[in-house]
Amino acid sequence: MSDRSAELGDGNETVSGAEVIAQALKTQDVGYIFGIVGIPVTEVAAAAQKLGIRYVGMRNEQAACYAASAIGYLTGRPGVCLVVSGPGLIHALGGMANANMNCWPLIVIGGSSERSQETMGAFQEFPQVEACRLYSKFSARPSSVEAIPSIIEKAVRSSIYGRPGACYVDIPADFVNLQVNVNSIKYVECCMPPPVSMAATSAVHMAASVIRSAKQPLIIIGKGAAYACAEESIRKLVEQCKLPFLPTPMGKGVIPDNHPNCVGAARSRALQFADVIVLFGARLNWILHFGLPPRYQPDVKFIQVDICAEELGNNVKPAVTLLGDINAVTKQLLEEFDRIPWQYPPESEWWETLREKMRTNEAASKELASKKSLPMNYYTVFYHVQEQLPRDCFVVSEGANTMDIGRTVLQNYLPRHRLDAGTFGTMGVGLGFAIAAALVAEDRSPGQRVICVEGDSAFGFSGMEVETICRYNLPIVLLVVNNNGIYQGFATGTWKEMLTFGDATTVAPPICLLPNSHYEQIMTAFGGKGYFVQTPEELQESLRQSLADTTKPSLINIMIKPQATRKAQDFHWLTRSNM
Ligand code: ADP
Ligand code: MG
Repeated sequence: MSDRSAELGDGNETVSGAEVIAQALKTQDVGYIFGIVGIPVTEVAAAAQKLGIRYVGMRNEQAACYAASAIGYLTGRPGVCLVVSGPGLIHALGGMANANMNCWPLIVIGGSSERSQETMGAFQEFPQVEACRLYSKFSARPSSVEAIPSIIEKAVRSSIYGRPGACYVDIPADFVNLQVNVNSIKYVECCMPPPVSMAATSAVHMAASVIRSAKQPLIIIGKGAAYACAEESIRKLVEQCKLPFLPTPMGKGVIPDNHPNCVGAARSRALQFADVIVLFGARLNWILHFGLPPRYQPDVKFIQVDICAEELGNNVKPAVTLLGDINAVTKQLLEEFDRIPWQYPPESEWWETLREKMRTNEAASKELASKKSLPMNYYTVFYHVQEQLPRDCFVVSEGANTMDIGRTVLQNYLPRHRLDAGTFGTMGVGLGFAIAAALVAEDRSPGQRVICVEGDSAFGFSGMEVETICRYNLPIVLLVVNNNGIYQGFATGTWKEMLTFGDATTVAPPICLLPNSHYEQIMTAFGGKGYFVQTPEELQESLRQSLADTTKPSLINIMIKPQATRKAQDFHWLTRSNM
């Protein structure tokens, strides 16, 4: 026996740190890794591929992290973002923060500098475990290669138990190629699915009686309900009790947008006058105007359903709190209404008010959509997109007006099929999300399309991921709604005229981007299809061709009026800037 094999004990078969990481991830049922390799994590990605884990090499760690987090939301199992030390990890923090704010599971694995060089100014040395703590539920470095499986199990379990979120695992460079005896590694069994908790019976009872006494009830469906896969039970509750419901941006599709009880088109009115509101997995944060007047009645009774106890009572004192899993709690409510059946009267004044408001809002949007003048406005663009959108497609969207107006026109019919800037209002998520959705579609329902609707500014944050899309040949349809700027921009003529007054750095308003940019050429540069469109007819035709071609990605650069805006709002919400 050589000295080396003696050292290793009985058998002399060894395994590298990289292989241990890959096997531990596989054991925890992780199916996707997104990242950018380099020292010291290249071997980790290669080892994962050998085990059949899909590895997607991205162009920026931020986008990789967004992609991994979307996997968690779409599948309920965290995706991994794999990054190099120092700057690589720091770039991923944006994605971690976004996932944590959205309550989405995510695992970030960061290579870090060698332990023996700590505090010496090692290559890319950075306090990574500490740095990640603010952006995660769990942040740790295994003490040895042998400890890797248990730390990875803890990270995966923490990411999906309780309120889902981001977790970080730090891997010192010297672990990656370290060879250890196979027999010294004990893989921890795959963690069990999250335990399901139910609300206290007395609280369920009280909630049912508050709902029964409501004069102007409203159900709000958040992305927590989407994540919890509570679509069947919530739909049953809505239909059985004949209640109006309002989805939050990513709650769209839990019940289809075209359901007769959906009051999305009367959002402000519904929030403002409801007297009882049931929140299914939606926080009373800025998206829901904190639950406060003037957007709500001062004495509105909230019934809050959430898995996170600390969330209950945040900003507003609720009438009833239902702590537990949304699906389980909704079933508890259904039992109450089975026991003593009750329906909200469909002929009520409340329904009449909501329907009337929906009619006027829809008519106003239609009116704008029918405008024939060129360049097009947002409503015209989205109207034509909606006409051709496959019903089962994923809709990814970001941008200011592009996302806000798009959300009102583009319909979702399936749960967990809309991904956008989310709780953190993050710009730059679009292409990463689209890539993740395309992989999930490929694996679970081949043929299903991903439509990614980007503002021109939002597209800029991760535009180089078009190369990633082309490299993996993901047939994503990218739409860039191009108004030459952030919020608004200038037409070419005005831009040129402005430059006669001085240099662009001193005279161009900060919201401007280069007019008439041909973003579609970024797609053609990598072999995808690019379209530059200026009229409704060109838009229709390019959409038709893009959707018909299932073999290639495409980018449609849609020129709209640089000063196009949204229709007048009852409340100025995030539109206070005068620029
Ligand atoms: P939205 O942006 O759609 O309003 P939020 O992200 O604000 O939604 O809220 C989602 C909520 O859902 C979070 O408070 C989270 O704790 C909760 N949640 C996530 N999963 C579950 C679950 N399985 N059961 C109950 N609540 C959940
Ligand atoms: Mg723009």
